[in-house]
Amino acid sequence: MLIAGPDDIDCHYPGAGHYAQPPHRMNDIDRIMKAAQPDMHFAMPNGRLSRPVGQRSACCATGQCRWCPVEAKFTALNSMQHIIEHPDLDICVDSKVEHIDIQNNSARAIRFVNGGKEYTARADLVVLGANGINSPVLLHQSGFSHPHIGRYLHEKIECTVEVYLDGVNNFGGSTLTTGMNLSLLDGEHRREYGGALLYFDNSWNYGLRPDFGRWREILPLTISVEALPQFTSVVSRASDGRPHV
Ligand code: SF4
Repeated sequence: MLIAGPDDIDCHYPGAGHYAQPPHRMNDIDRIMKAAQPDMHFAMPNGRLSRPVGQRSACCATGQCRWCPVEAKFTALNSMQHIIEHPDLDICVDSKVEHIDIQNNSARAIRFVNGGKEYTARADLVVLGANGINSPVLLHQSGFSHPHIGRYLHEKIECTVEVYLDGVNNFGGSTLTTGMNLSLLDGEHRREYGGALLYFDNSWNYGLRPDFGRWREILPLTISVEALPQFTSVVSRASDGRPHV
């Protein structure tokens, strides 16, 4: 995926760092934060090139990442063609898995429907990756009954705010989100509040600042707060077969 990221993040996540590409250029706010909190503020690791590779350009921070015009953002289509086109691989789109067949307590096959017709695919190893909503439903309808299946559903809670700056300009970084701040991630405060990760955005989510001459003195911040896994947060299978949360 050619992740661009900083080596010094290794101090929080041992084994991380040593990314394939050098980190993106931070914006001026990130540099102030890095000087104040060198162990808490880091260039954001991400799958957007900081250096061009082959036909793919380096990220130019235009913020249209859903349809990256220069292929700076990693996708399977720009970086995994050799896998997608491998003759041993079939990708069955528009197919719905209905059942996992079990033999001797091991998954041995899946049954899926395509175009109104049912097929069976046998396997030595079955990997289920249908997200936290659909995976437990599929397990239930296949006869699995472990008491934790479908329990502990949780997701981070995000809010975004915009900070008005005084004499510091934003948007000098080289990608969409340039900084991550870990100062609220862990510590005593988690006895009473959720841990939070702060993303320092290098894009004008709400437009430029509407004060003459101070257009760039804004900082969009995304605050991502943990929600604790709870036994009572349940995904089950409704009578019509659809997920019920
Ligand atoms: S910000 Fe970077 S990854 Fe996103 S669309 Fe622009 S060039 Fe592509």
